[in-house]
Amino acid sequence: MERKQKAIEWIRYDDPDEVPPPWRHLLEEAGRGWNKAWAPYSQFLVGAAVLLDNGIVLSAGNQENAAYPMCLCAERTVLATAASQYPGTAVRALAIRVKNLRKKLTEPATPCGACRQVLYETELRQDGKPITLILQGEEGPVVVIEGIAHLLPFGFDHSAL
Ligand SMILES: [Zn+2]
Repeated sequence: MERKQKAIEWIRYDDPDEVPPPWRHLLEEAGRGWNKAWAPYSQFLVGAAVLLDNGIVLSAGNQENAAYPMCLCAERTVLATAASQYPGTAVRALAIRVKNLRKKLTEPATPCGACRQVLYETELRQDGKPITLILQGEEGPVVVIEGIAHLLPFGFDHSAL
């Protein structure tokens, strides 16, 4: 028997002004994703923006449906858009911002389990090149995570297929 460990790490900026300018810009783009969200049921708006290796920035919002299981997260929506519009172009970073119309969110939210798995597959598709995640609420602290391994240490891959 052998007990093993994996370490995860993240960077927290209590002062958003300390966030490096490219990531601040991507957070602004993610905020624009709120305007693209369709969230009449939860009132929980998620905006996501990706920065691609070719410098292109795309944003999206979550897409809810009265048939709840059909809902699409903003993260997967923008990743699918990027893969469709710019196939073969690596995703360098993904910014995610959350806003609840019922109460002000001043802490970031992390991606759901399904989005973590899709981010894991996206990194595999780009030869393991890590995607930087930049997370923020409506305002307040920013969390930066360098690669999905820090959010999903045991992702499922093709090796068992
Ligand atoms: Zn999700």
